[in-house]
Amino acid sequence: SNVKHPSAPSLMMNSHFASVGENASQEAYEHGIQVIDEEKNFNENLSTYLNLEKVIPAGFNYHLISVFGSQSTGKSTLLNYLFGTHFGVMAEQERRQTTKGIWMSKNKRDEGGKTMAENILVMDVEGTDGRERGEDQDFERKSALFALATSEVLIVNIWEHQVGLYQGANMGLLKTVFEVNLQLFIKDSKTIPKSLLFFVIRDHLGTTPLRNLQNTLLADLSKLWASISKPAGLENSRIEDYFDFAFVALPHKILQPEKFEEAVEKLGTRFREGYSDPKKAGLIDEAEMPVFLPQYHRRIPADGFPLYAEGVWDQIVHNKDLDLPTQQELLAQFRCDEISREVLVAFDESITPLEDKQAEDARMGNQAVLPGLGRAMNEARTKILKDFEVNASRYHKGVYQRKKAELESKVDTRLKALFQKQLSAAHKSGVETFSNAVSAAVKDGQKKGTTYDFAQIVESEKAKALERFESDAQAVLVQGAPWSSYQQEFKLYRKDLDERSASLRKEEMRRLATRIERWVRSRLDESIGLEFNKIGSGRGGSGAPEHGEKPPTEKNLWDRVWAIFTETVEAAEKRFTDRAQSFDASPEEVEVGLWRLRRKSWGVLRAKIDEEVMEGNILLKLRENFEDKFRYDEQGVPRIWRPTDDIEGLYTKARESTTKLIPLLSRFKLSVTSAPPPLDAWIGNPPESVSAADEEDLAPIGGVDEDEGKSLEEEMTVLSDAKAADLLMRFKKTADGVFVEAKRSAIGGMTQ
Ligand code: GDP
Ligand code: MG
Repeated sequence: SNVKHPSAPSLMMNSHFASVGENASQEAYEHGIQVIDEEKNFNENLSTYLNLEKVIPAGFNYHLISVFGSQSTGKSTLLNYLFGTHFGVMAEQERRQTTKGIWMSKNKRDEGGKTMAENILVMDVEGTDGRERGEDQDFERKSALFALATSEVLIVNIWEHQVGLYQGANMGLLKTVFEVNLQLFIKDSKTIPKSLLFFVIRDHLGTTPLRNLQNTLLADLSKLWASISKPAGLENSRIEDYFDFAFVALPHKILQPEKFEEAVEKLGTRFREGYSDPKKAGLIDEAEMPVFLPQYHRRIPADGFPLYAEGVWDQIVHNKDLDLPTQQELLAQFRCDEISREVLVAFDESITPLEDKQAEDARMGNQAVLPGLGRAMNEARTKILKDFEVNASRYHKGVYQRKKAELESKVDTRLKALFQKQLSAAHKSGVETFSNAVSAAVKDGQKKGTTYDFAQIVESEKAKALERFESDAQAVLVQGAPWSSYQQEFKLYRKDLDERSASLRKEEMRRLATRIERWVRSRLDESIGLEFNKIGSGRGGSGAPEHGEKPPTEKNLWDRVWAIFTETVEAAEKRFTDRAQSFDASPEEVEVGLWRLRRKSWGVLRAKIDEEVMEGNILLKLRENFEDKFRYDEQGVPRIWRPTDDIEGLYTKARESTTKLIPLLSRFKLSVTSAPPPLDAWIGNPPESVSAADEEDLAPIGGVDEDEGKSLEEEMTVLSDAKAADLLMRFKKTADGVFVEAKRSAIGGMTQ
């Protein structure tokens, strides 16, 4: 134990002082000695008093009892009757507390020790329940603990009508005191000190037998014991390990004064030495059992008692473990929790359905902005905090403040979740609406066939979207809630809108590209078709060549095709660039778009060429070319064959001339270099910012896409050798047919 056990007699009262001051001191100690005063000071004169009372030399032959109980329950009165002490009692008229702190007095009755034990020291403890000392429940807790820790017998004074009432019977205080007693004085002691809890039931009417009251109290006590927190190792201890119990009921002192005195008289006889021998004890009627059993004695020699008591008090006063919540705080905690639960009912009523709605929406995957959410949240929050304040603020300030903060954070956690889900719904639907609105406006523009201003559409829709979000967010701001702000979310929203704008712009770029490609296709369809038609004319086209231009011949077909192609694409590129810049496409995006345009245009040209050289088409053109040369003279006049004409010679010449076209048509070559056009250089390297998606729909081009395993030469092969040979054969057959026909007509003309 940490309790000081003074053994040195040097601390004993100076006997000289005692004898000199004896008479004066007897008077000074008429009411006993105030062991502990209101300021929680331990009285240094305890030794003096005990010396005066001749207890100091008694060794173990003394006893200490205390009284515990509510204010003005006649504790001091009882002690005075029982022990002839002069503790202050409340005058019958003024209901005012008299006992302050802890008083001690020696038993004045039966000092000879005939019916009572010798040297009984009685401590009168300031009443509990703190009513008259205002908020100072700290003192009642500490004084009660002091009484419990030092006394052999603790008289628990209680009105009959308090039995069974938790607060009334001071059960809360007892609980605290038991708990700290275990912690502070019992936990480390080798032997378990036992005390007697002696319940004195006052104003017993007699209708309820003592036995019943006793059972109620015992049941309450064991419940109380079960609920206290016990130090490690003592978890399974029972209250009976530390306490014996005795019960007595006293009649009403005012209404039945004689009976009261009689009962007190009888009670007094129990304050005698008991026997440790249970056999002897067993013979005694329970109502007459002596209270001082040897095992209750703390075994502190009387001369060491003052120092021991001081040590106990010191430990109680200074031990931080004792800084338990006061009864007021406990009450405040209890009530504040209760009030919290009460005020949460209304809050739940308005907020839970909204939470459920959001949860349901989330489950269905359609987060929606809940109308009226902001107002509901504001009203619910204001109401709950107000209701709590109204009901709880009159309780202990500190506890109230803490509980208010707890409630606030509980409420705010839920409101914040609602708030954020609402913002996220506003975000999602805002971006969606924005995107749909832009697409709709574009579609509308397309339908009208006007050149709509994409950048303008995006800008105005974005402004609307931002405004919508702000107003949705404003609507759910919660007054006074520290978390109620949406700046961060707004920033994210703006960022998302920008991202969505970028992807919409990309789509718009694609649409633009598609339009431009279509334009390229129709231009090439027409102009390249014309070029190929010129083959049919056999003389490189009809009509005079335009000024400055090289006269069109079969030989420079590919020069012209290439020139038309590059000029057309160049014009397309310019259109693309102009449009793309109008809606703020980045230079990188434009660059990629142009690169794609060139590649795709080449594909268009290549397809057009393939169409032109399709078997039937080209054969027809060769035949026309041949016939032009064979059937018309240099002036373009149709020949009328006569037998004298050199039909074979003309035929051979024309046929050879047309035949030469086949290898020419077979390869796309420029006449200057007699090499394929520089398609790879013209298309250029893929821009750095090109993405996989940009390349996804692009057909590979030989000589441009290296890993295609196809050379530029191959890309430029219009007719394979086999195809060319086949074409030649078919052409010759066709030419032969024309020749035979000419021959026939020559002969026919003669015979006619
Ligand atoms: P304490 O504060 O518990 O010490 O109470 P007191 O001994 O000072 O008594 C308070 C008041 O109760 C006084 O007016 C007493 O006369 C009165 N009183 C004392 N004993 C009894 C009792 O047994 N029954 C009733 N009804 N009143 C009592
Ligand atoms: Mg009193």
